[in-house]
Amino acid sequence: MDFALTEEQQMFQQAAAEFCKNEVEPVAIKLEAGHEFPMELTQKMAELGFMGLVIPEQYGGVGADYLAYLLVEGEIAKTSISLSMTLGAQNSLVGLPIMNFATEEQKQQWLPPLASGEKLGAFALTEPGAGSDPAGMRTTAVRKGDKWVLNGTKLYITNGAVAKTLIVWAKTGEKPDGKPLISAFLVDKDVSPFKVGTIEEKMGVHASPTTELIFEDCEIPAENLLGKEGDGFKVALMTLNTGRLSVATQCLGLAQAAYERAKRFATEREQFGQKIAEFQGIGFKLADMITEINAAKGLVWHAVWLKEQFGLSDPRFISMAAQAKLFASEMAERVTSAAIQVHGGYGYMREYRVEEFFRAARLMTIVEGTSEIQRLTISRWEMKA
Ligand SMILES: Cc1cc2nc3c(=O)[nH]c(=O)nc-3n(C[C@H](O)[C@H](O)[C@H](O)COP(=O)(O)OP(=O)(O)OC[C@H]3O[C@@H](n4cnc5c(N)ncnc54)[C@H](O)[C@@H]3O)c2cc1C
Repeated sequence: MDFALTEEQQMFQQAAAEFCKNEVEPVAIKLEAGHEFPMELTQKMAELGFMGLVIPEQYGGVGADYLAYLLVEGEIAKTSISLSMTLGAQNSLVGLPIMNFATEEQKQQWLPPLASGEKLGAFALTEPGAGSDPAGMRTTAVRKGDKWVLNGTKLYITNGAVAKTLIVWAKTGEKPDGKPLISAFLVDKDVSPFKVGTIEEKMGVHASPTTELIFEDCEIPAENLLGKEGDGFKVALMTLNTGRLSVATQCLGLAQAAYERAKRFATEREQFGQKIAEFQGIGFKLADMITEINAAKGLVWHAVWLKEQFGLSDPRFISMAAQAKLFASEMAERVTSAAIQVHGGYGYMREYRVEEFFRAARLMTIVEGTSEIQRLTISRWEMKA
């Protein structure tokens, strides 16, 4: 088994680390406190090719392999979880499903502006009454001549306020058994305008706007159907299966950043006349933190390997990606909380940033399938195996 990174993977990781050190770290606290979308930094990520990491060169991207994308995602999450959410939406939630389900003509139209960062992407599945169970969605799309007419409300959409290229799910009818026929649509806000509703006030991840989107008789060209009519569940599930690795990698970044800060603090802070790292109670805490991080990393990398060997639809990959997301997100919550504890009172203060990482980590057991849904997925596949 080879855990060594290729030269290209190392190069992307290094580029992300330098970008974070030089451009993001100096403004990171201000960024979260400002509750504003970091457009300038997003454009810098685009200049470095990060917005089109998973998009092949023929469509304007850099065509990096999936692990290279994850390495960049993880590096950026160490410094700004909000920026990493934007990167994830662009690559994993919008770029990849277009790569996997679009026609050649659609790829040529929709991928280059995403890769260049000219258009930001968003994934609009969740609704007020439909979260873990998207079958409960109420948004409809009705075919009228050469258009689809979209009506409904989407909730909690990452980058919904700034995105121009969206994948939106809607009910387009019913199957013979009465179950909803769900389809996915490519929506260009410049062509098919819609309203941005409430911009949510959240516990953390403040520089990543989470918004309501309102579609009222929103007309979409008929050719913007992504996949076939009724393929919506397939598009969503395949995207989320891979997206789970993206979230798991953000968790690795958050946990690693919290661990490094805790380790540094513990080797500098003195109480009772010695470094607190020398107390077994603190040393063991740090040992548990790094062990958990590496265990999560092992699951993520194993899932990437399964994806490369057997493809996106393979049950071994689906189960392992769910395991990676489940473990990494719960690990990040534990590790960032432990980092606060190692810092004592300092950990509760904004300046030390570990409380920010904890608030961000708390999101990760919820997005792209809650921990309960991951356990459901794992147990279902395991029963079948
Ligand atoms: C900051 C943020 C950003 C987000 N970004 C996006 C985005 O970009 N695009 C998008 O489409 N959505 C996005 N979401 C929505 C997110 O994916 C949903 O919140 C998530 O899927 C859970 O759905 P829900 O909130 O409706 O909770 P519910 O589905 O109502 O779940 C409530 C509770 O019930 C549990 N539960 C539900 N069903 C079961 C079951 N069968 N067995 C056991 N327990 C169950 C859940 O695990 C949870 O604990 C975002 C959410 C947040 C908070």
